[in-house]
Amino acid sequence: MPDKSKKILVVDDNRAINSMLVNSLESEIGIEVVSALTLADAKIIVEQSSQSFFLAILDLNLPDAPDGEIVDYMLAKQIPSIVLTANTDNYIQNTVLNKGVIDFINKTNLNEIQYIVDTAKRLYENFDRKVLVVEDSDVSRMLLTTLLEKQNLNVFEAINGVQALKLLQTQKDICLIVTDYNMPKMDGIELIYNIRKDHSRDEIAVIGISSTNDSVVSVKLLKSGANDFIARPFAHEEFNCRINQNIDAITNYKKLRDATIKDYLTGLYNRKYIFETGTKLFHNAKRKNIQLTSAMIDIDHFKKVNDTHGHHIGDLALKHVSKILSKELRDGDILSRMGGEEFCILCINLDTASAEMVFNRARQAIEDNPLQLENLTIPITISIGYTSAIVDSLDQMINNADHALYEAKNTGRNKVVAFTD
Ligand code: GH3
Ligand code: MG
Ligand code: MG
Repeated sequence: MPDKSKKILVVDDNRAINSMLVNSLESEIGIEVVSALTLADAKIIVEQSSQSFFLAILDLNLPDAPDGEIVDYMLAKQIPSIVLTANTDNYIQNTVLNKGVIDFINKTNLNEIQYIVDTAKRLYENFDRKVLVVEDSDVSRMLLTTLLEKQNLNVFEAINGVQALKLLQTQKDICLIVTDYNMPKMDGIELIYNIRKDHSRDEIAVIGISSTNDSVVSVKLLKSGANDFIARPFAHEEFNCRINQNIDAITNYKKLRDATIKDYLTGLYNRKYIFETGTKLFHNAKRKNIQLTSAMIDIDHFKKVNDTHGHHIGDLALKHVSKILSKELRDGDILSRMGGEEFCILCINLDTASAEMVFNRARQAIEDNPLQLENLTIPITISIGYTSAIVDSLDQMINNADHALYEAKNTGRNKVVAFTD
């Protein structure tokens, strides 16, 4: 797994471009960027073992390295590199690309700065992205995997459609699938058809690949639900461009989706989401006799935090509580911010005996971990009311948890109370 603590190195003797890059990269990606003006400076920085870089952005012509020597140096140090140049010569571009750099960018126009920042940001975020390659030929599969890993993506492999569908069951957050058309057991078209039963084009991007010259295959792949198609043989740059465009599209769709179901401050689900998803969950639980538990949480004397330290610190406290609660819960539990300093949790299959323990552990975790600021420690406690009795509606169930919460508040706060009729 690549190391996420790494930094970016920018080497360019043009001070204006250098500082523009450093500022944009730092503010848009939020990581440390180190810069150098010459090959000699860059070498000193790299040789200092404490610095490790997941990416170098390199000017091809430096005062002490006029012929791209910096590229060879970085590649020898195994630092993935993006190369910048004002030279538009195709021969030079191809020579540098063949050395194994990630991308080659023309810096004749300043719009390219944004392109570089977007590329660096994608490469950084790719450390957290999972993709799947489905291909029966070992050689082709290895090539596809190598190209994707070069973009920092986490690659899973399957040798046919059946294996791919099985993998999708366990790896729920795969965002892109590259699939061959011709495969034994289940071909690309049948695979895509099956993927689309559960995952829309906005959720998982599928790119079909085929060596055939038959345009019918590409049409069939697209009609069965592929987002894109690549014909073999392909240039590696074309492959990368299509991968990047599809990842960007999926990421944008996810951002739009998140904006409607998540709370902007804490990143938790919002009230609308918990009622929409919770209602489905509720009816399913009721029909199939599955255990469902609902809990309401409210921060104790939160007004005092705002009044004493200001609204901004209050916001930090809300984020802090959200983080701890998320950590305390299981993946399947739904945690939402209902509004203000109130949270709601829905848990499936949490037996009555465990419920008390789980919520009490969460309460204790908040009490044990005060908000730690530079010169300030702010103790925080929460009160929790919950119920596991499935009644007529989700609304009613949440109301009952709320009643228990009021009792917790009225009997001393910083405690967990179960609803009783
Ligand atoms: P109790 O223990 O009874 O719950 O007391 P409390 O002070 O927590 O409850 P109260 O309902 O009186 O106050 C809630 C406060 O939460 C008032 C409001 O200003 C604050 N609040 C609500 N939303 C936000 C927010 O988004 N950010 C910040 N900083 N404060 C918020
Ligand atoms: Mg409160
Ligand atoms: Mg409140």
